[in-house]
Amino acid sequence: MSILKAIFDTIAVMIRLREKISLLPFNTFRIDAGARYLFHLTDPGELRELADHREVGHLVPDKERVLVMGQGSNILFTSDFDGLVIINEIKGISIISEDNSGVVVEAGAGVIWNELVGYAVSNGLSGIENLALIPGTVGAAPVQNIGAYGVEAAEAIEKVRLYNRCAGEWLELSNRECRFGYRDSIFKNELKNSVVICSVTFRLSRSASPRTDYGQIREELDRRGLVDPSPAQMAGIIADIRRSKLPDPAELGNAGSFFKNPVVSPDELQRLREQFPEARYFRQGDQYKISAGWLIEQAGWKGRRVGNAGCYEKQALILVNYGGTTGSEVFDLARQIRESVREKFGISLESEVNIVPARNF
Ligand SMILES: Cc1cc2nc3c(=O)[nH]c(=O)nc-3n(C[C@H](O)[C@H](O)[C@H](O)COP(=O)(O)OP(=O)(O)OC[C@H]3O[C@@H](n4cnc5c(N)ncnc54)[C@H](O)[C@@H]3O)c2cc1C
Repeated sequence: MSILKAIFDTIAVMIRLREKISLLPFNTFRIDAGARYLFHLTDPGELRELADHREVGHLVPDKERVLVMGQGSNILFTSDFDGLVIINEIKGISIISEDNSGVVVEAGAGVIWNELVGYAVSNGLSGIENLALIPGTVGAAPVQNIGAYGVEAAEAIEKVRLYNRCAGEWLELSNRECRFGYRDSIFKNELKNSVVICSVTFRLSRSASPRTDYGQIREELDRRGLVDPSPAQMAGIIADIRRSKLPDPAELGNAGSFFKNPVVSPDELQRLREQFPEARYFRQGDQYKISAGWLIEQAGWKGRRVGNAGCYEKQALILVNYGGTTGSEVFDLARQIRESVREKFGISLESEVNIVPARNF
């Protein structure tokens, strides 16, 4: 029985392994890069089958030749990927435990992030409602510690279950072990390119008070006459604000904010404000985040188009594909933007989007 099952599993993997595939449908920038091999992972056990596979098995422990992705909403391909792309489609949301204060929920890495938000708010659970409508999958959320409207995923993540391809071992990392920071985690540093996140466990609350003090939220609450919004109402408001400001990747290829907001010390902020009193910034602990969108706009890039790539007209932080652009064209545009911000303000922007294969500006 187990030998038959092993043979069946191996054949199933062989059938689903595709060769020489365009990644255009699998990245929101809509870049037409190719992948040597592509595999849709639907069960963590298939990782073993892939590792044993005659043709691609040797790639599995190789850092540079495997790319694990979700919806490709935070990736810019600047050339073809000569290796194995694994698209994580492990589904499932289950309750691990619950009490009066909240619920612990485990979600498969391939669950669509906004579906998890929908699950939470429709059950009256709070913690991730401000992250409504962020594209992508649950498995990618801890990678850059997704954040929006004053909330980061790290605040709700309890643990992350993963397979370390390079070490060949299964691990569970606690929130602390994930070393979350602003758009940062262990998965972008020590564990970069070496793990497959298979599920993420969240602690959601039945009673947390809504976080309403960021961006346009307050304005919208007043306009709708809401004083104590439910998680579902918060998610609805945030989804409406996002739809009005951000380009829909189905219509205009993009990967959201291209650069991170640079974080500076109080002294650096003061120096910037002496020269540019109107500079836009937010407090981040005892440091300050300067609005990268504002820096780019002041450097004159908002709405500018270079070939088929451009800087979005409503939000300078987003680079867009007007159709048929290449990843190199977008990368060159990003490099020019970065250079002019550095010249004008003396600040070096860091990309938030993952450049594949990795490239420095
Ligand atoms: C219109 C738009 C708006 C956006 N707004 C926001 C926002 O408000 N806040 C924000 O933080 N982000 C935002 N983003 C960026 C993006 O949505 C997030 O980074 C999201 O988490 C990416 O999910 P994904 O599944 O598409 O990941 P991918 O783009 O496929 O991958 C991103 C990175 O994670 C790695 N990865 C993905 N899945 C796994 C896995 N299972 N195991 C190991 N590594 C993995 C990949 O190798 C890659 O390095 C936005 C993007 C768009 C297009």
